[in-house]
Amino acid sequence: MENQFGCQQIDTKIKEALEKNDQNLAVAKIQEYLDKDQNVPLNIAVTGETGSGKSTFVNAIRGIDNKDEKAARTGCVETTMEVTPYLHPNYPNVTFWDLPGIGTNNYPAAEYLKKVGFEKFDFFIIISADRFRENDVKLAKEIQKMEKKFYFIRSKIDDNIRNEKRSQREFNEERTLIQIRNNCIQGLQDLGLQSPQVFLVSSFDLTLYDFPLLVETLKEELPELKKEAFLLAMPNISLDMIKEKKKTFKAKVKYFATLSAAVGAVPVPGVSVAVDTTLLFGVVTKYVLGFGLDIPSLKRMANYSGVPYEELKKVIKSTLIAVKVTPELLLRLLVQFGSLAALLAAEEGSRFIPIIGIPVSMGLSFTFTYSSLNTILDMLADDAEKVFTRVHLNTTG
Ligand code: GDP
Repeated sequence: MENQFGCQQIDTKIKEALEKNDQNLAVAKIQEYLDKDQNVPLNIAVTGETGSGKSTFVNAIRGIDNKDEKAARTGCVETTMEVTPYLHPNYPNVTFWDLPGIGTNNYPAAEYLKKVGFEKFDFFIIISADRFRENDVKLAKEIQKMEKKFYFIRSKIDDNIRNEKRSQREFNEERTLIQIRNNCIQGLQDLGLQSPQVFLVSSFDLTLYDFPLLVETLKEELPELKKEAFLLAMPNISLDMIKEKKKTFKAKVKYFATLSAAVGAVPVPGVSVAVDTTLLFGVVTKYVLGFGLDIPSLKRMANYSGVPYEELKKVIKSTLIAVKVTPELLLRLLVQFGSLAALLAAEEGSRFIPIIGIPVSMGLSFTFTYSSLNTILDMLADDAEKVFTRVHLNTTG
């Protein structure tokens, strides 16, 4: 509801500005509203003993293969002795912090948190590859005292499943998972932590086990303003997640359409309307990055999944991807949309005209931009689904 309320408020402000014929004010209001969401910082702390799988997890969640250059260092020796930030490749406002395990040093939990600069973290992930220790519980309790949240991850679940499969005649995956989860929870309770939540994860395939539930839980529990940054920075772990990203982008299309029509709109050759193509280019680039369809992301996905890059390129239909997106390319696409967009525009986009108070002079540009962005968004989401399905088919055999 908070979101909807926020939207109504901004719609009213834009309408008031446009009714006074103050397009600059309308533009400033929209820009302020859009910037607020886009630049919000998100800092995620990941802690656990050496060898627990922290670096591999930090890489996987950023869609980076352990062998990639930018990857967090991994290995069985003591590699993470200090607090190391790892930026998200497509969202520099989202940072994962690899923290040394609390047992690695002799600091008490409170001092450890002070040393790592706990204030900046939005939440903590505590990872273990087996049972959680007393130190993990001490740390969790201290994090709670500081009014921050923590989540336990039991890593390398694929190893357990493989071993159980080998050793048990009547292997049942679901039963094994419940057993591991319950053991972890019981262990934490025995150490004095009430109702802990433990998520079972394999960093080698985040679509499996409890990672999707972890993402859902975090999204629910993050403040409203940070939810979007978090969602867009997550790898595409399901078709539903791609749909949700699309919905998030869709909710903003009317604002970009208003901006594009209001800010120095220029006629598009071959189309009888004026739109701001530079602005559109910026928006479309954000869609491409959010769906992980830019060339570097696709290459990382190829490395990570083992599906060759050329194969991934083959499933993609949009002309906007797998080659570098340029304003010229976008322009050519907009011209193709010319007549189609005009048809769609009349029906769909025009309902926002009275809501936001778009003046008649801007109406056509608004509806053209509105339907062009929606059409592009549909195409890109479709491609993201195809890439996901192709990769997932590969990882599940
Ligand atoms: P860190 O010291 O906590 O950063 O741990 P690393 O990420 O370097 O991982 C230690 C070892 O565990 C490496 O050999 C990883 O390949 C392996 N590992 C990490 N995560 C997983 C996982 O989810 N499944 C399996 N099977 N191995 C993992």
